[in-house]
Amino acid sequence: MMKITVLGCGTSMGVPMMGCRCPVCLSPNPRNRRSRPSIMVEVEETRLLIDTPPELRLQLIQYGLDDRLDAVLITHTHADHIMGMDDIRGYTLQTQTQIPVYAEPDAIQDLERVFRYVAHPFPPGSSSPLIRFLPIESDILTIGSAEIRPLRVFHGAMPILAFRIGAFAYVTDTNLIPEESMAQLIDLDFLILDALRYQEHPTHFNLEQAIEVARLLQPKRVAFTHLTHDFDYETVNAELPPGMELAYDGMIVEMN
Ligand SMILES: [Zn+2]
Ligand SMILES: [Zn+2]
Ligand SMILES: [Zn+2]
Repeated sequence: MMKITVLGCGTSMGVPMMGCRCPVCLSPNPRNRRSRPSIMVEVEETRLLIDTPPELRLQLIQYGLDDRLDAVLITHTHADHIMGMDDIRGYTLQTQTQIPVYAEPDAIQDLERVFRYVAHPFPPGSSSPLIRFLPIESDILTIGSAEIRPLRVFHGAMPILAFRIGAFAYVTDTNLIPEESMAQLIDLDFLILDALRYQEHPTHFNLEQAIEVARLLQPKRVAFTHLTHDFDYETVNAELPPGMELAYDGMIVEMN
């Protein structure tokens, strides 16, 4: 059993966007409210969090995923993907068990700089997240019941990671998936894929490009993420090709 919860499907600015009064930003529809990008993947009893965005604490509480966690996987170290890292404290205060945070060696250098305090002893009675940064250096990572395959994708010129877990893959913040990684993304039951906005962008797929990639990969179901205020959920979702949809905060997909 695998269960995927979309904690956030918004772009780096989130939706509504500060100062914007467009119909999507003013919309009362909860599916037009997009927090910064993250997902929780549950494989049997194993819980994996992919990325730690600024709204992490609120997301975990909202979806009832705030009691335990086995590991964190980091795609890359842009602010919208890591600035909620300290909220992992909310778990480790309860469990007093260290949580591993897996990232590429370069990304770990960034994390150790930004969250320098976690490596230092803190005075008794105060709290710091009990986390340990671990480098992803192998083709397959086994954590509890989950087998994770890190895949190289490019976010503009920046090499970052996508993750395949069983018949599911999470591919965010990219505008180029190399052939080797495309080959690892076939036969998927569910794919979450970056589709920023309508206009082309130097580091993200736009909707048209994402649809094209989805057509090549032919997953049974695809949900687009990292969405701006370009997309009114009801309107755009209704126009997408069969098997394709917009993700929304709180979306849950269960698979065998
Ligand atoms: Zn991002
Ligand atoms: Zn707007
Ligand atoms: Zn990014």
